[in-house]
Amino acid sequence: MSSDTKVTRKLMLYFPECETEKPIVYHLVKDYDLVINIFRARVTPEEEGYLVLDVTGTEENIEKGENFIRSLDIKIDTARKGLTWDSESCAQCGSCIPHCPTGALSIPDRKTMEIVFNTDECIECLSCIKVCPFGAVHSLF
Ligand code: SF4
Ligand code: SF4
Repeated sequence: MSSDTKVTRKLMLYFPECETEKPIVYHLVKDYDLVINIFRARVTPEEEGYLVLDVTGTEENIEKGENFIRSLDIKIDTARKGLTWDSESCAQCGSCIPHCPTGALSIPDRKTMEIVFNTDECIECLSCIKVCPFGAVHSLF
């Protein structure tokens, strides 16, 4: 892959109370030439902030942008996302499928009819949480 190739990475940022006012997104765009797509942002009553976003840019710029974020003591979580799907709790009822706008929850194999969750496709709209009768989908914040 050439160093100019653009990639997209989904990140969940956790802001301790004191960091919520910093213009992170502005700097990521201006200083590191990244395209930002914010899916969900929330400040808790304790004034902690969460932000789930996609960053698109070169590998090098994304890495620099991540280092900038970390330098502000903001935690980057690339493993956990804002939404989790618990395969154990999922009863495979299929109720969520027509409500998922991106196909992040899908039935790729019509023979097995198994529900699959693809976190990369999830835009954090939370529709599935509202319609899941078995509490198999959770929001981390
Ligand atoms: S949050 Fe929205 S996009 Fe993500 S899995 Fe649920 S319905 Fe699909
Ligand atoms: S609505 Fe809930 S239990 Fe039903 S398939 Fe979707 S995640 Fe699984």
